[in-house]
Amino acid sequence: MSRRIDIRAGEYLFREGDAPTSAFLIESGRIEISTHQDGQPLVLSVLNAGDLLGEMAVIDDAPRTADARALDDATLIEVDRTQINERIDSADPIVRALLRGQLYRYRTALAQLRSSTGGAAPTANFPAQNPQMDADGYDDSAVAKIWLETQLREALAKRELDVRFQPIYEIAERRIAGYEALVRWTHPTRGPVSPMEFIALAEETSLILPVGEYVLDRVAEALAEIALLQPEEMPFVAVNMSGRQMAEADMLSAINTAAHKHGIDRRLFKVEVTESLTLDYARVGDLISRCHDVGIKVALDDFGTGYSNLGHLHKLRFNTVKLDQGFVRQMLDAPRCFAIVQAIVDMVRTLDADLVAEGVETEAQLLALGSMNCRYAQGYLIGKPQSLAEIKGNHSR
Ligand code: C2E
Ligand code: MG
Ligand code: MG
Repeated sequence: MSRRIDIRAGEYLFREGDAPTSAFLIESGRIEISTHQDGQPLVLSVLNAGDLLGEMAVIDDAPRTADARALDDATLIEVDRTQINERIDSADPIVRALLRGQLYRYRTALAQLRSSTGGAAPTANFPAQNPQMDADGYDDSAVAKIWLETQLREALAKRELDVRFQPIYEIAERRIAGYEALVRWTHPTRGPVSPMEFIALAEETSLILPVGEYVLDRVAEALAEIALLQPEEMPFVAVNMSGRQMAEADMLSAINTAAHKHGIDRRLFKVEVTESLTLDYARVGDLISRCHDVGIKVALDDFGTGYSNLGHLHKLRFNTVKLDQGFVRQMLDAPRCFAIVQAIVDMVRTLDADLVAEGVETEAQLLALGSMNCRYAQGYLIGKPQSLAEIKGNHSR
């Protein structure tokens, strides 16, 4: 709870060594912050209306490291420590680590300033209080994230990210109609890192944009090689699009650039949009119509998981719906699940779209999907994500 405090000129708000209770926002008046150096008073700063003070000791739960005294009659708003700590706890871990690291350095500098011999230990001791902090006061998990992100950036610059192609099988025609492009990263020491992890990391910053462009470029390059083998029967390649790519990048112009560079038809690209993105209804709708204007198809990925909204499905004109793996996995054991899959196959057809069943791992699942008239199947039974060299064999005459 915030409350107002009035103090008179000359009074102390807190003194060095006091336990921290709250931080303060100055509404009116001036507050002088001072400490002692070699026994002599030393003014660190004079704060005015709108300035925040006393927040440091609240953040690191250490005794006050300076005196705060009113120079005029002043009014302050008390900011409760839980108000501050809740915000810090919910902040991005990297921002939190930066804050704590800076605070730790400030404390160290202040302790050195205060002692004539220099080099005194800081009063605040995060490392001892928080096992996640290392000796610099940084949160190790946040540092690991920054580190991983830097390495991802380097891997991208060195073109070390790999794009794999997982076949999408047209059941009735018994042929591979296309592929889904799936990015892979083999970390120099950790080995393969799941795209679930590094795509999520890249999504947190704008790094996802060059990663996305890189994938498009590699896909176009692969299509150009396949076209040399069998130009009359080209497969499509579906690329995954993340939220940030949709919000910040012009996916279409990136597809155009890649297609143009490698001399292939841009209509061989298919865009996969995950279900959670359809919450941004207007933007997805706009993307779909711009794709359709140039003959590019759009698929709804992982349908049936968290955000299924049939209202959106009827308004958003997806060409393809990809049924989440979970359904196929349970379909043959749970009759109700089987019934739902059948209903989705029928519903998608009435919407003039195609269904891809994801995660097909057994012949029995493929057979069942075929008998339901599901058009496409994708999964380890048909093929795992493979290198370009491996899939070329599917297209040689
Ligand atoms: P997704 O788009 O739903 O991709 C399908 C995932 O299911 C892939 O995992 C694939 O390897 C896996 N999978 C395919 N068949 C089977 C199967 O029969 N059984 C099982 N258990 N799994 C199967 P992966 O490659 O780990 O990718 C995970 C997610 O990472 C993808 O989910 C996609 O959301 C994201 N992702 C991958 N590549 C990219 C990319 O280039 N850009 C973006 N934005 N996201 C990507
Ligand atoms: Mg996908
Ligand atoms: Mg999927």
